[in-house]
Amino acid sequence: MKHTRVKDLLNSNNTLHEVNAKGWVRTFRNNQFIALNDGSTINNIQCVVDFENTAEETLKRITTGAAISVTGNLVESKGAGQKYEIQVKKLEILGDSDAEKFPMQPKKHSLEFLRENAHLRVRTNAFGAIMRIRSVLSFAVHSYFQQKGFVYVNTPIITGADAEGAGEMFQITSLPLNNLPKNEEGNIDYKKDFFGKHTNLTVSGQLEGETFAMALGQIYTFGPTFRAENSNTSRHLAEFWMIEPEVAFNNLDDNMDLAEDFIQYVIKFAMDKCGDDLKFLEGRLLDEEKSKPQAERSEMALLEKLNFVLENNFKRVSYTEAIDILRDCTPNKKKKFQYIINEWGADLQSEHERYLVEKHFKCPVILFDYPANIKAFYMRLNEDGKTVRAMDILFPGIGEIVGGSQREERFDVLVEKMKALGIDEEELWWYLDTRRFGSAVHSGFGLGFERLVLFVTGMSNIRDVIPFPRTPQNADF
Ligand code: ATP
Ligand code: MN
Repeated sequence: MKHTRVKDLLNSNNTLHEVNAKGWVRTFRNNQFIALNDGSTINNIQCVVDFENTAEETLKRITTGAAISVTGNLVESKGAGQKYEIQVKKLEILGDSDAEKFPMQPKKHSLEFLRENAHLRVRTNAFGAIMRIRSVLSFAVHSYFQQKGFVYVNTPIITGADAEGAGEMFQITSLPLNNLPKNEEGNIDYKKDFFGKHTNLTVSGQLEGETFAMALGQIYTFGPTFRAENSNTSRHLAEFWMIEPEVAFNNLDDNMDLAEDFIQYVIKFAMDKCGDDLKFLEGRLLDEEKSKPQAERSEMALLEKLNFVLENNFKRVSYTEAIDILRDCTPNKKKKFQYIINEWGADLQSEHERYLVEKHFKCPVILFDYPANIKAFYMRLNEDGKTVRAMDILFPGIGEIVGGSQREERFDVLVEKMKALGIDEEELWWYLDTRRFGSAVHSGFGLGFERLVLFVTGMSNIRDVIPFPRTPQNADF
């Protein structure tokens, strides 16, 4: 008999004769009531066992974590809390779970403990909810761009280009590390390596993405990205997923409009599709915050916060205005910031970004027109000669969620900039071709998918919104 998903059983419009459900036992109480979950929804279905007519041996094997199959009628539940339940006629144990040993006991576990058991944490309510939301959000990403006629591009994961010019890359090699071939100068001879050159895992698909935008008009990438940055923060992963749209003929204002519209769309999409999961996570967050001092608690509950982002425009503020605000703010004057803001040109740290968003503007903020020398080489130089058409979107509780810019489309200006920064023109000959042949104004941005999932789920550590996190000193599973 084909089994029916728990979600469909719970959503049934009427009672049903003879249904079959398969899933994992969450709890079994009074030798009678099984809470069964199959991952289709956060909600369990109650299965009522006729314990007087069930073998003692079988009852003992209905333990938390066990996989079972139940067959019976779907009837109206007498108990509170659910509309329907299954009156079990036939119960089969598919896979036992030793109650003494199964790590996911029906009690509260710390997030640290759950990370150590990332292969089983997805069997908890919170992680089931997070991973379903993550899946829906990634569908929303494609839905948004496809509906607008963007072309999905798969940029290479192994690359010879360092898009950010910032290092922090994982090298790829098939050379024997204990016997590296050397050239005449005594350096490693990458000509003997697999690709005949030095290669890395990509830190961004942008440069390749730009070449496609200059042919297909509007494109997006959505793929894995790698950064060997040794920053052990709650917002950085060594392997994360990035979404990078790139659009020909868009200037920076168009770019901001696109980013804002996109973020609002995907959040709305998740709210429409993941009501039960979000409600659960909202409760989880309220619970977690009870243990925090009042000042650290969020002012809004999760759904209210998501609605707020949908209903309010992001505040657009120039870097120069932001510096003025920061220089004069109380935490700066009282030296509460770790990095004191003294003058124009300072790079903003996450403490500054969070002050602007959480304390000053109290809404998402788009900062634009940054000093040229703290931003990447490909960003378009403004007429003032010292700022570039860059934008970062800052979110409450997250900090930077998007980094983007209008790209430098002028060949001479771009080459000048590369020379000044010591970036090899020969290496990027193909990138410069976009400026040699039919160059045009174009813009794009990168959004870290996990930071979006963090925001939507109300979680606070990025390790908890990706199935198997990769961070310094950790690549388990
Ligand atoms: P940050 O200052 O937070 O390190 P960044 O300036 O290095 O970010 P970009 O190079 O602009 O970030 O990358 C675009 C987006 O990718 C960021 O806005 C962020 O959402 C995401 N991102 C960057 N680095 C990471 C990381 N290590 N883990 C997860 N997401 C990241
Ligand atoms: Mn970074």
